[in-house]
Amino acid sequence: MTKDLLGRHRAVLPDWLALYYEDPLEITHGEGRYVWDAEGNRYLDFFGGILTTMTAHALPEITKAVSEQAGRIIHSSTLYLNRPMVELAERVAQLSGIPDARVFFTTSGTEANDTALLLATTYRRSNTILAMRNSYHGRSFSAVGITGNRGWSPTSLSPLQTLYVHGGVRTRGPYASLGDDDFIAACVDDLRDLLGHTRPPAALIAEPIQGVGGFTSPPDGLYAAFREVLDEHGILWIADEVQTGWGRTGDHFWGWQAHGQSGPPDILTFAKGIGNGMSIGGVVARAEIMNCLDSNSISTFGGTQITMAAGLANLTYLLEHDLQGNARRVGGLLIERLRSVAAQIPGVREVRGRGLMLGVELVKPGTDEADPQAASAVLEAARAEGLLLGKGGGHNTSALRIAPPLSLTVAEAEEGAAILEHALRSTLQ
Ligand code: PMP
Repeated sequence: MTKDLLGRHRAVLPDWLALYYEDPLEITHGEGRYVWDAEGNRYLDFFGGILTTMTAHALPEITKAVSEQAGRIIHSSTLYLNRPMVELAERVAQLSGIPDARVFFTTSGTEANDTALLLATTYRRSNTILAMRNSYHGRSFSAVGITGNRGWSPTSLSPLQTLYVHGGVRTRGPYASLGDDDFIAACVDDLRDLLGHTRPPAALIAEPIQGVGGFTSPPDGLYAAFREVLDEHGILWIADEVQTGWGRTGDHFWGWQAHGQSGPPDILTFAKGIGNGMSIGGVVARAEIMNCLDSNSISTFGGTQITMAAGLANLTYLLEHDLQGNARRVGGLLIERLRSVAAQIPGVREVRGRGLMLGVELVKPGTDEADPQAASAVLEAARAEGLLLGKGGGHNTSALRIAPPLSLTVAEAEEGAAILEHALRSTLQ
């Protein structure tokens, strides 16, 4: 059945839609932190949490909210007053930490970042953007144009002039051998140098922890140090929280808070898990920035009643069950366990990350050379034993990405760690 579907998929969908696994998986249903394929095999889902399912698969509270709303009304999200949209906007504005915040809902992270770029370039009257090397911000023409990860930028043309900044990746690149403070100082010097050779950019856009780039994080405080330089030049800071938001990093509700000394970003974008599978993206900005557009601008499906109902139910569940605290506790146990395994396997360079956003970087043993084949082999081996993982990284994807739904239990974390340990040992040793 799945084989036939694969043939039909290949015949009708674009070649550049990357499918995981030599024998691709058809997921047919899920519950909690588990999913099942069309053959009835069960998998512990260590990746779906960052893709779609922030809290848990088939959460009854969300199913109920969505089906009730579907049975009531789905209509224009913006031409008439939309109670669920106002309610979710109020909660997001308050949680964002941005003063006098306004919220605009979109249908994806791409559209959210596109909107952030529209706002920043209009507000600052500049179409130059600073972005991080190795970053990912989406697949529209403008988002691709600012994406630094070469594996995800299919065109070199761009409506924006983009300058790339060092700092998003702590463990590779020219400053990798430096300690944290020197690393930050070197990146700040690099930024100052860049600004000396260009018209004032509108904004710096950055993921506090790079997602597609392999869950790499800079030292805490990098973006606060950047912020001082940006402020001197009147450049806005856009935090792309599409992967890092809503408590995933455990210690903080937003990724920017690890760099929070200089306050919240000017613009924050979010998407992915907030709808627990329903398509919600959005932008938060101070009113003065959000309101700089001087013509109408709407998104037909951004903020529909059904997606907002899902978002409200999901956010309520997340806060009432303290899933940020759960990410901190369970993620803390998981990273400790994986680090002790990694110390015994030469092909594992490091286990990094925060909360339930962990990366395992694989290298050719005895070298610092990325090993994408090993990453694919471990992914296959883990799948064969009932664990789904993600992949990520720079020009070659040599990191395993772990991002389960935030309700992961300690027993499930142990189950996943045991499978991953076995997959690493059987593949790399
Ligand atoms: N920003 C980041 C940090 C992302 O990881 C992604 C998706 N991988 C996007 C933006 C784009 O989101 P979407 O796929 O919903 O358009």
